[in-house]
Amino acid sequence: MAVYRTELTVKTERRVQLVDITDDVREAVEGSGIREGIVHVYSRHTTAGVIVNEPESGLLKDVVNKLEDLVPEGAGYEHDKVDNNADAHLRAILLGSSVTLPVSDGAPVLGTWQSVLFVELDGPRTRRVLVTVVGDE
Ligand code: ZN
Repeated sequence: MAVYRTELTVKTERRVQLVDITDDVREAVEGSGIREGIVHVYSRHTTAGVIVNEPESGLLKDVVNKLEDLVPEGAGYEHDKVDNNADAHLRAILLGSSVTLPVSDGAPVLGTWQSVLFVELDGPRTRRVLVTVVGDE
């Protein structure tokens, strides 16, 4: 069994923004030389998420709108007294900070409409995403 780790840099341009990082994850798996195993994609941040879903432009807007509905900005949060970004933390908790995908035949296994999406919740920022591939070469 082998373990391979690499870090992606994701630069975001808006406060809330979904970025398709599927190609980067695919390249990381290819670069690992691992053929069969799993790939773990992990955001090292408290105000960003990682999800698997469809990068259709209308749906991306729906996700942003729904996050704003569920966790409105500045709704009297305690954390806003010290950092003014409680909504970003709470939205990140809802989404989760990592996903794990199977790796088969040297590639991440994804359904036709599935992509790996990094979700910026307090941008614009430069973010770090850790990709760990574990398995057999
Ligand atoms: Zn904060």
